[in-house]
Amino acid sequence: MKTISDFQAEIKETSASQVLQTTLNAIDANKDYNAVISVVKDRALERAAAVDEGTITGPLAGVPFIAKDMFNATDSVTTSSSNILRDYHSSYQATAITLLEDAGAILVGKANNDAFGHGASTENSDFGPTKNAIDDTKVAGGSSGGSAVVVALDIVPFSVGTDTGGSTRQPGSFNGVVGYKPTYGAISRYGVIAMASSTDTVGILAHTSRDVAVVTDLLANIDEHDQVMVPLDRSVESKPTLKIGVVREYMTDEVSEDIRRAVQSRLDKATKSANIQIEEVSLPSLPHSIGTYYILVPAEVSSNLARFDGVRYGQQKQGANLTDMYELTRQAGFNSENKRRILIGSFVLSSGYYDAYYEQALKVRSMILDDLNEAFKTFDILVGPTTPSTAFSFGEHSTDPVSMYLADVMTVAPSLAGLPAVSIPVGVDSTGLPIGMQLIGPQKSDFSLLKCAELMEGTS
Ligand code: GLN
Repeated sequence: MKTISDFQAEIKETSASQVLQTTLNAIDANKDYNAVISVVKDRALERAAAVDEGTITGPLAGVPFIAKDMFNATDSVTTSSSNILRDYHSSYQATAITLLEDAGAILVGKANNDAFGHGASTENSDFGPTKNAIDDTKVAGGSSGGSAVVVALDIVPFSVGTDTGGSTRQPGSFNGVVGYKPTYGAISRYGVIAMASSTDTVGILAHTSRDVAVVTDLLANIDEHDQVMVPLDRSVESKPTLKIGVVREYMTDEVSEDIRRAVQSRLDKATKSANIQIEEVSLPSLPHSIGTYYILVPAEVSSNLARFDGVRYGQQKQGANLTDMYELTRQAGFNSENKRRILIGSFVLSSGYYDAYYEQALKVRSMILDDLNEAFKTFDILVGPTTPSTAFSFGEHSTDPVSMYLADVMTVAPSLAGLPAVSIPVGVDSTGLPIGMQLIGPQKSDFSLLKCAELMEGTS
């Protein structure tokens, strides 16, 4: 496991160019995982040389990182791992990438993901699936699968992904790394390809919560280009007693026994520390979050994907007339999961069904938010497993999309409520596959949440 400070020590001992070369070699040597789908070589080489010459400085000077291919970046292709954007070059760069560059970090490549973020295994990438870093017969998780694997394989010390319903936390847990989603609006999404605008966040993956906090500190800046930004609470007060609520609805029989045991044993260890108090808490609306998510998110997806019409971005297929061109372009460019979500979304928004589905789902969303806020009157942090199972085999959920959706059953509630959440590794199952525990905090409490995650990581 190599952290940001390990990379910094290597840069100091050798040079940024040398460390970059090692990173590029590692990308090459690990090609079989299909975690990286393009390399940003020339710009990275130039920037590393500038770090060595002292013209680029900053807290992360020379530290390499990889971004999910949903971030627009200068001198790179940005495909969203979709055929419709194959060879697409954006004319501008995402704020998150610019902020990391301002800190001296070096973007070396773009990571594979489920096309447009639709999935929980990276099998829905039009560039082929990513293999799990621990067991290459298993999936990497998704949709930020590539971003998790590049950290787990120590190619880079951290990566950025997106998390709309679990996409950094679930692959983080499948590959034994930390996966974090911030409070909604804490990190600018300007220049990040939109999936579902009311839950989209920029997420971070690293080996430790400490490293995640270092990167969050750089990224959580108000940006006028993103209209929903909120400032995080930066004061991390140490409470005399940290009250942790274990969510009953997340510790059910549907969660594998190995996972429940690993989470429980990590919590048992934590209780031995005098200033942590752990209690069970019930949030009755949580079982409805998955159904709510899979109504609201496709609705927003259907709207956000309307812009890919063959005219403004990416690939175009010729047709006899304009309508034909739209149809052929979208038919060829989107994969079946993208199309499924466009169909579901258009259905739930259609005039005959809007009241029955979309409007009802909005109401349930507020119930979920109320339940969570109520729990935070008593607890500082809520915890449970990140996923119901560890990494599954390729093809295991491909014939039944709903069974794949259930992989998100515990990650979607914080997304719907806009709350910060982080998955940390807490052990392995009987076959050696990593297990993740999710910690959820109140809105804007990200730095306290990450501090608590750090504490929990240290208790093993
Ligand atoms: N797996 C979830 C989905 O398919 C989450 C995706 C995401 O967070 N981008 O919607």
